[in-house]
Amino acid sequence: MSQPDIPFPQSPVLPTMLAETHEIEFSCHKGIGCWNACCSNIDISLTPYDVLRIKTRLGISSTEFLKDYTVPYEFDKDSIAGIKFRPVEGGTACRFMKPEGCDIYSDRPTACRYYPVALLSMRKQDEYVDRDSYALVKEDHCKGHEVNRRITIADYRKEQGLEQYDELARGWRQLVLKKKSSGPTIGKPSLRSRQLFFMACYDIDRFREFVSAESFTKLFDLPQAEKEALMADDVALLQFAFRFLRQVLFGEESIALNAEAAQERLAKVQEKRLVEEREAAKKRALESESESDEGFD
Ligand code: SF4
Ligand code: SF4
Repeated sequence: MSQPDIPFPQSPVLPTMLAETHEIEFSCHKGIGCWNACCSNIDISLTPYDVLRIKTRLGISSTEFLKDYTVPYEFDKDSIAGIKFRPVEGGTACRFMKPEGCDIYSDRPTACRYYPVALLSMRKQDEYVDRDSYALVKEDHCKGHEVNRRITIADYRKEQGLEQYDELARGWRQLVLKKKSSGPTIGKPSLRSRQLFFMACYDIDRFREFVSAESFTKLFDLPQAEKEALMADDVALLQFAFRFLRQVLFGEESIALNAEAAQERLAKVQEKRLVEEREAAKKRALESESESDEGFD
């Protein structure tokens, strides 16, 4: 099983994996002594659904949001990227932190909703489905653990609106886990694959342009009505983006190719295979030549 995202030894995450039925003792409310302490020093990764919610809230495009409010980071070296909130200029606080609390509260990201619970998604090498378990984050500054309110993680997730958030980001989480657990045998994704992943996951407005472009229509046989529905609905388009990436990155075809394009693609694959076979044969011949030369010395 792949390792959880969070490195236990150096982090405030307690090293015990918890089930949804586990009860935590926690409450956060205005007036608590540590109010806003957690938002003053942030390290918040965003899911594609977080981006969609916040850029809609701010009334800007996903491209503008990415540029002004986020910084990218790599999950592994030379691998696909994630994004994090960019803190205030020259500081560590969240740009949405206000004295009265979070300025985008009803659209706050997944990580803010979960705190002080950490979601640990894992996946077995031979399975596509991910399995969730949880851990508790205990930081000295957070007094919420001292409040006497017991709640199961399942109820806490409901209270924080996380069922919808997790469901709509599940496709992305599965792609990340699959890429991580495929390991070096599959190789590093090409620059083009990484760019496609970034655009389709985080820059939904550019992905919309990409899907409506002629080159996409030439390659994929997407019924007009389905395309129009996708163009009008960001959430549906995001779920389509995950399908598209499964096809492009892992060859799991669920979007039909145009017959002509499919033919062209097949011809290209066959040509590539032929070139590879020729190269391998050449290499073998050179190796056996040098072996027989050695025999005459
Ligand atoms: S988005 Fe809101 S809850 Fe999250 S860190 Fe920023 S201010 Fe705090
Ligand atoms: S109780 Fe914890 S989560 Fe709530 S404001 Fe204080 S530090 Fe933040």
